Amino acid sequence: MKQKIGILIDYDFTNKHVPPYPHPVFFSYENPKRMQTIIQYLEGMKLFENEKIHKLIPRVVTKSILQLAHSQYYIEAVERLSKFGSGMLSEETYITHDTFLLAKKAVGGVIACLESVINHKSNQAFALVRPPGHHALREQSSGLCIFNNIANAIHYLRKRKNYNKKIVIIDIDDHYGDGIARFFYEDPNVLYFSVHEFDFVEGDMGFITELGAKKGKGTNINFPIPMNTTDAHFMEFTEILTPILAQFHPDLIIVAAGFDMYFADPIGNCLLTSKSYYEFAKYILARARQVCDGKVAFVLEGGYSLIGLPICVSAIIRALLGEPFIPQPFEQVEFSAPLEKTDFLTIKDSLKELLQSFWNI
Ligand SMILES: [Zn+2]
Repeated sequence: MKQKIGILIDYDFTNKHVPPYPHPVFFSYENPKRMQTIIQYLEGMKLFENEKIHKLIPRVVTKSILQLAHSQYYIEAVERLSKFGSGMLSEETYITHDTFLLAKKAVGGVIACLESVINHKSNQAFALVRPPGHHALREQSSGLCIFNNIANAIHYLRKRKNYNKKIVIIDIDDHYGDGIARFFYEDPNVLYFSVHEFDFVEGDMGFITELGAKKGKGTNINFPIPMNTTDAHFMEFTEILTPILAQFHPDLIIVAAGFDMYFADPIGNCLLTSKSYYEFAKYILARARQVCDGKVAFVLEGGYSLIGLPICVSAIIRALLGEPFIPQPFEQVEFSAPLEKTDFLTIKDSLKELLQSFWNI
């Protein structure tokens, strides 16, 4: 088969679920401009005229599909508040009259991408969806997420399509995907590997000691990194991930692709440029070709720099297409007080020690 990369876009993501806050407060960063800038940029590079690219559209999901991952009470709460037209679903998550529709499309978009890859319609795919999903819990919205797009899509494949093969989720959003972790904490067939910014003083979810439970022990792996991590050290986690991918041998790799580790992001505190996302995609593609016939689906999670988002998304797509990386002049920044390799050694060594009972690393 000639290489085909599926890109899922839907123009509803560019104009619906508009935050009611006119000023740049935390809640307002998750807004339609994120998707407008991505799509404009991809159209500007004539991506959709490339014969290796094909557009995917979201599946329509019913409430019964949402119920595979979420409680009826919670789904109806989202629907009711959307009908009402406004409100807060949690401390950080706003609702508008079209939130329910858009959140369903986000789940349906991820389902369409995963199906396209596992059914060999696309070699790789990228679900450009919003609102994000990786914090959402079964009965609760959290951190700008309504439904857990990835977890819901996996439950759909499991329960409706009889797809029971092993899956790896690699989460590179700046924040810990506590929602995904909880969904699969006891599941031995879904391995969750998260790289996230971690405050080593205050503590948070996402400790290296959260390893999964029961039959899933050893399949929840957290690689916390310090704030101010740059391109120089972002890929340190691969030393642990590479042997685990080879031993777990998944049928599919899903990347929870958040871009809030970008240096200009208004929420995350890391200092990556688009180079890291390009290198990461190249790495994942090479690993996927070794372990699962190249089957990788990227799913947009966070990322709030309107300059960084389109550049980082396109960097990933360029890597999938086998095209060279194009550095942006404004990304050539010298950061003061850079971290040293030694800052990552303790994390790596401690995590390796914990994982040695489960993996040969
Ligand atoms: Zn995030």
